[in-house]
This record gives sequence, C-alpha cells and structure tokens, in this order.
Amino acid sequence: QFHKSKGQHILKNPLLVDSIVQKAGINSTDIILEIGPGTGNLTKKLLEAGKSVIAVELDPRMVLELQRRFQGTPFSNRLKVIQGDVLKCDLPYFDICVANIPYQISSPLTFKLLNHKPSFRCAIIMFQREFAMRLVAQPSDSLYCRLSVNTQLLARVSHLLKVGKNNFRPPPKVDSSVVRIEPRKPPPVVNFKEWDGLVRICFTRKNKTLGSIFRQKRILSIMEKNYKTLQALGVPQAADVADVAVLGDSGEMEEESEDEDGDEEMDVEMEDGETKSDFKEKVLGVLKEGEFELKRSSKLAQEDFMHLLSLFNKVGIHFS
Ligand code: SAM
Repeated sequence: QFHKSKGQHILKNPLLVDSIVQKAGINSTDIILEIGPGTGNLTKKLLEAGKSVIAVELDPRMVLELQRRFQGTPFSNRLKVIQGDVLKCDLPYFDICVANIPYQISSPLTFKLLNHKPSFRCAIIMFQREFAMRLVAQPSDSLYCRLSVNTQLLARVSHLLKVGKNNFRPPPKVDSSVVRIEPRKPPPVVNFKEWDGLVRICFTRKNKTLGSIFRQKRILSIMEKNYKTLQALGVPQAADVADVAVLGDSGEMEEESEDEDGDEEMDVEMEDGETKSDFKEKVLGVLKEGEFELKRSSKLAQEDFMHLLSLFNKVGIHFS
C-alpha cells in the first residue's frame, strides 16, 4: 500500500505530531508549506494552528486521499494541494515550512528552501538522524562536513527532537530527528558558488592540513586554470560582492576520504617550472598569511572559511 521508493512512512504517533506542531511556533496568520503530506496526519494539525496550508505531494493516490479527508470540513478552503515533485515545482510564498519528508530528497530540498525568495521565517523538518546531525555539526564534531558549513552559512540550524523508527508506519530502517532551520537575514554577502567551490576543496580531506591539500598538483592546476581564465577576462581582483548565487547540488553529502593512508601528496615541481610554481607560491602565500597551512577543515569555523576566501580573492584567486 505504501511506496518505499517515495519514502512513504506515515507518522502514526499523535503525541509526536502535536509536539512537532508545538515546537514549530506557528502563528494563526501563517501560511504554511507542507512537503509530502501523505495521508494528512500532520496536515490536520497544521490547519488547526495556521491560516492556510499549501501541501505539495508527489503521489496522486495520496493527493486523492488527502482531498477526501478534508472535503466538506471547515478546513477544505484553507488547504491547497499541489500534486507534483517538490524539487521541480515553483514554490509559492510561505511563512513557515513544516514537513516529514522522504529522506532521499533531504539535501536538494534543504538548498532549494534556502534559496527560496522571499525567504521564510523558519522550516521544521524531519530528517534521517545522521543527516540531521551533519546539518547541526560544529567544528571538531565528527560529522562536521561541507553540508554543515554550507547550511550554516545560509541559516541557523538547531536540533529539536529525536524520533525513533517506531513512530512511523511502516517503520523506516533509520532513526530520525526534527531540525529547525532559520534562514539568516539578511543573507550573507558572499557568492555561494564560490564559497562552495572553496569549501569543497577544503573538505576533500577534512583531516589533512590545508597546506597539504593545496599543495596537490590536481588542485593547484584546476585553480590555476580558473585563475588564468578570469585574468584573461579581466575580472576585478578584489572580492566581488555578489549576491548569493543560485544553489546547485551544493549540499550534497559526499564521500570524504579519511586519512587512512596518511601519505602526503608529493611536492612535484611542474616541468614548465616558472609559472606553475609562481602560482603555487601565490597559493601558499595566502595560506601563510592567514596562518592556515597547518589547520584542518574539521576544526575550521564559518569565519575561518570566510577569511580564507577573502585572502584568496585579494590576490585574484576565485573558486567559481
Ligand atoms: N507527512 C506524512 C506523515 O507525516 O504522515 C507523510 C510523510 S512520508 C515520510 C513522505 C511523503 O512525501 C509521502 O507521502 C510521499 O508520497 C511524498 N513524496 C515523496 N517524494 C516527494 C517529492 N519529490 N515531492 C513531494 N512529495 C513527495
């Protein structure tokens, strides 16, 4: 009856539904976005708490069931159901998002919401526990990763509630957590694509020193190509104050190879010597200036990445 591929796990514990709605801090004037309403257990409480609910649901059978459930009730004119894939549709204006989502869309959905304009007050979302812990992880936490850094650049995130598998029918394989995501206002003054470009490099080996990461031939050569292209285009050297760019797959969880082997990249000199090693010196100069050479991404805070990016930008090195 339920589609596993659509992540259909229905919340069956009414106390838990109450607790989520209560923690969401909904005002009676709020327009609420719900993603994946399913059979409508959460939807009903949201309709009771807010002004209206816009629910986006992929499965036509669920859409029917939902409409049937509220037909002829006082709720029906305050509920709008959109049938479709939330990742593909244009989202309407909303004040707050409350959702028990299919876990396979966690990352793209998070960044779709964070890129939504005008920005909303907050989102209260059920995620797989590990994903939730990554979202809220702080420097030095074992799950601190590119997803943590990118999300926390754009939003304040906090862990609200641990939810065991048995609150769902059918129970999923993993535990869950409810997280609160509050977009930063105003949004950070940084080009997100470029930010993500830098963070992506830094987290290729999150426990290696930045000195060793930025000495890698592969990384230096990509950076240098980019540098030369921008130089040729006459792009200004100073940090561009760009708007927060359109987000792509930017929050994707990635394999982060840990230091199993511990071997440092060899310090290979390029054959056409001069220019390559000049560029390398430029990069290492930036790391030295900010005292980043011996630092590791696993311990760096938001401000550290921001500082590093501005030092690179100052010498004309960009990441997008
Ligand atoms: N909200 C309900 C509850 O808490 O009982 C159901 C939650 S269930 C985890 C996820 C719901 O999202 C399912 O109804 C599923 O059909 C729907 N869904 C799956 N993929 C979707 C997508 N890409 N866009 C919108 N809805 C989706």
